[in-house]
Amino acid sequence: MDMKQWVADQIQAKEKKALPVLTFPAAEKLGITTKELIYSPDLQAQAMKYIYDHTDMAAVLAFMDLSVEAEAFGSTIRYSDDEVPTVVGSIVDEDSNVDELVVPDPREGRTGLCIEGVRLIAEQIDDKPVIAGCVGPFSLTGRLMDVNEVMFLCYDEPELVHAVLEKTTSFIISYVKELKAAGADGVMMAEPLAGLLSPDLTEEFSNPYVKRIIDETQDDEFIVILHNCGSSVSHTIDSIVETGAAGFHLGNAIDMAEMMPHIPADRLAYGNIDPAATLCHGTHEAVYAATAELLEKCSQYPNFVISSGCDIPQLTPWDNIDAFFAAVHDFYAEKVDEEKTAAAKESQPAVINDMTSRERFFAAVNHEPVDRVPVHPFVAGSNRVLVGATFPQWSHDASLVAGSYIEMAKIYPEEDCIIIAVDFTVEASAWGQPILFKRNNPGRPDYSKMLLKSADDYASVEPADVATCERMTMLRDACKMVVDELGAEKPIFAYIMGPLSTLSMLRGQTKLARDAEKYASEIRGAAEKISETLGEYADMLMDTGIDGILWDEYFACSAQMTREQWRATEFDCLASLAERVRSKGGINLTHTCQKGPYLDLLIESAKPEVISFLRPADGCATLAETREKYGAEVALMGAVTPWNTVLGTDIEWDRECREVIDELGGPGFILSPGCFHPANASLGRIKRMIDIAVSTKIEA
Ligand SMILES: [Zn+2]
Ligand SMILES: [Zn+2]
Repeated sequence: MDMKQWVADQIQAKEKKALPVLTFPAAEKLGITTKELIYSPDLQAQAMKYIYDHTDMAAVLAFMDLSVEAEAFGSTIRYSDDEVPTVVGSIVDEDSNVDELVVPDPREGRTGLCIEGVRLIAEQIDDKPVIAGCVGPFSLTGRLMDVNEVMFLCYDEPELVHAVLEKTTSFIISYVKELKAAGADGVMMAEPLAGLLSPDLTEEFSNPYVKRIIDETQDDEFIVILHNCGSSVSHTIDSIVETGAAGFHLGNAIDMAEMMPHIPADRLAYGNIDPAATLCHGTHEAVYAATAELLEKCSQYPNFVISSGCDIPQLTPWDNIDAFFAAVHDFYAEKVDEEKTAAAKESQPAVINDMTSRERFFAAVNHEPVDRVPVHPFVAGSNRVLVGATFPQWSHDASLVAGSYIEMAKIYPEEDCIIIAVDFTVEASAWGQPILFKRNNPGRPDYSKMLLKSADDYASVEPADVATCERMTMLRDACKMVVDELGAEKPIFAYIMGPLSTLSMLRGQTKLARDAEKYASEIRGAAEKISETLGEYADMLMDTGIDGILWDEYFACSAQMTREQWRATEFDCLASLAERVRSKGGINLTHTCQKGPYLDLLIESAKPEVISFLRPADGCATLAETREKYGAEVALMGAVTPWNTVLGTDIEWDRECREVIDELGGPGFILSPGCFHPANASLGRIKRMIDIAVSTKIEA
């Protein structure tokens, strides 16, 4: 098909046809499961034909999910009946020899089935283009390496990441060429993991590879539509446009009307009805109203084509899909049904706000009834964008740190407490540990210059001077500013690295954990000296009027130390620090995000009011069991997987939030990520978490 002409026709058309990312919901109509669908080119073609016959799409979209290409490389995939498959684990790490990573033949494995599905549908349809799907180069690279690790590796071993990108890019090019040969007229390329990168890293690790794929495949007969549903798009849109794609498909984390002026008039712009909250979980009135409203806002741009913000979940009710198409039809026929849009307002989920954040948080702490699920976003650093600061600036300036938390509270007034944290090195800097600050990376110790070079050096640790530590006094000043501004409304806490966490920033985490077996008493000695300093630091912070301290207890878990080791080293230090906070009228929170946290030991030692954690307690198989065992003794805060803010779909994220509420919810529960929100992640999913909390009543 002459795709150059098709693009021009789309832009010129007065009555435009929509192009939502609609494929998987056809499974219900055909009475088949996802697993059957992804393994059968015949069923894929039947499903595409069903959508072609029954909806008014601008083009035929072929099946894709973000695991197909990784599976071709050998990644393990997890399946379910009514959900797109996901990748588990990684196949490349720092120790891998990338030369040995074999670039597979796209005609084999599941990519081969997708090619065949495209061939079968392209044979049947000639009045609309067939647009296939594929993953973007950084997203595939992130799937092959641990997504948790890939961010660190972008800094520490950029050559390794680039070497894997070379392989994934060449694979995607040959895959797209096969799709083209099978009859596809274009491809929608999804690069969501770029949302994890800062703008400068996007320009290094995503855009050049995306551009290479486009240069190699796009021509008059074939277009590339670049999909990116991250909210960082609002900062990176201009460089994304430079990749040269014929179309840009944007997600619901951004304001489409704000993006439109950035997109050249001869390229298509697709977006951005929320596929999870609106299309899947909304009422059909709400879908109709949101669709009409978005068209109202953006249709002045002839290159705007209405779409969903991302893949429409398989379980989306067809009533809602029909309402979407009806609204598009009515809008272009200039007869939007005002009654339907008015009805939408009444069908919005109720926001429950009978208590203030302060009342709600302390009710949860006391295991008393609350009006709705309390929520804490656990953000440190990713909010620097709200004050336009780089990490080196933000990490050293009290007014920028305070400003970022104050701005957050304006955007998310529903957040129920604030925990002020900068990075893991504030305390270590008091001992003079050299720290590296990079533009988009939180400060971290210079691992080539650790103060404690061997286990013998534990004996040399002496208390440090709090008053002359600039970063500690900076944090104190930031706490004061936040308390003055928000203390009446919200509980405010400061984050302090516990004695062993601080010590590990002088020695290295792995080394400290390894030393614990032979040098427990030396470690304890150093931890006691450090605790003297941390106690003074906590006093200084408490004097600003904050409500208490969150202690980072990285080592209080089976992943790092045995129970005996932890008891012998940190237990007593933490107990006396917590006592010191209580004597100042404050409460204690602890945080451990590693596997097998020792909740019982933390309760015995710190007597905390709240424990923040990510994974089930040591000895418990599930979060629900953790609640069963400890929920009556202490308030539980967590346990949503923090890096899922950049992974998976909105619907998966929403579901995890709801599952965590199901397992941990009840009196004495606060919904929160199980560790800090990643430093370069966008805040879009945090907003979703807050929305879920504010519309969920909690069982008394
Ligand atoms: Zn997406
Ligand atoms: Zn953590």
